[in-house]
Amino acid sequence: MLLKGKPVADIIRGEIIMTVRKRKDAGMSAPRIALIRVGENPDDMAYEERIVKNCRDLGIISDTTVLGEAAPMEELMKILHEVNKNPEIHGVLLFRPLPPQFNLAVVSKGLKPEKDIDSMNPLNLAKVAAGDKSALAPCTPEAVVELLKHYYGDISGKNIAVVNRSLVLGKPLAMLLLSENATVTVCHSKSMDLAGITSKADIVVTGIGKAEFFGTEYFSEESVVVDVGINFAGGRMCGDVDFEAVEQKVRDITPVPGGVGTITSMVLLRNVLKGISLQEIGNNG
Ligand code: NAP
Repeated sequence: MLLKGKPVADIIRGEIIMTVRKRKDAGMSAPRIALIRVGENPDDMAYEERIVKNCRDLGIISDTTVLGEAAPMEELMKILHEVNKNPEIHGVLLFRPLPPQFNLAVVSKGLKPEKDIDSMNPLNLAKVAAGDKSALAPCTPEAVVELLKHYYGDISGKNIAVVNRSLVLGKPLAMLLLSENATVTVCHSKSMDLAGITSKADIVVTGIGKAEFFGTEYFSEESVVVDVGINFAGGRMCGDVDFEAVEQKVRDITPVPGGVGTITSMVLLRNVLKGISLQEIGNNG
């Protein structure tokens, strides 16, 4: 089976549309987010364009603030302070990575956790680790969990190998999967016998950023493969898995593009609405 992201993204999209409509019917303001970009990185600008379009389609207002590539950290901290204070702004996305003059550890803590739709504040990651459902969880790990729950329902007791230990993907994903009662093995570049580990797992999540690295030897006939990698090789987008070869062998696999990435952008905007609920709880005491 091809594990497409679109059906999952469409369900989340429907939930967002309904919540935005209910707010409107109740005379409440439209959700509003601030996008903060430093410099003119083409990847950031392409991502920004997609978010702005999705926001427009879903009735969410987005405002973009652009800082110069050489802007001092104080300028960014001042903007974060302002958006934190502004009750009209419900969510904030800061494009990363940032230029070297920014101290990410300091910047990350500068944004209120309940407006932190991309989960950069360590408080949100701590909540994910604690299994606290009020966390604004990182979007890609959450998208992986959504995809698995959509196609398989209960993943309790499944052996899941995650090949990535980064803070944006592998570590939070391991925590989210543990909260779903999966048995998780986190692998990385120093792991011994990677193929031995992945081929024995029920589900393998790959996110190493190496085009078509994983061949058939990493999987069994029963494997479910979730490819999070986004790479460009020979002028086309591909994942970390050699899709053509592996799809012949395994039980189910996500396509790239059209898999996890499709869900990620909807999870980001769902986080805006989740953040609004947290802000309302905060405002009411
Ligand atoms: P990252 O910080 O560079 O992390 C890469 C991870 O892969 C590290 O844990 C690294 O191990 C591990 N790794 C690298 N080579 C390996 C190997 N040969 N064997 C086993 N493990 C290996 O990258 P990231 O930011 O997490 O992103 C990873 C990938 O996910 C990229 O392709 C990115 O484009 C993609 N991504 C996709 C989405 C989406 O929405 N679909 C979102 C975010 C990222 P060490 O820790 O030992 O170095």
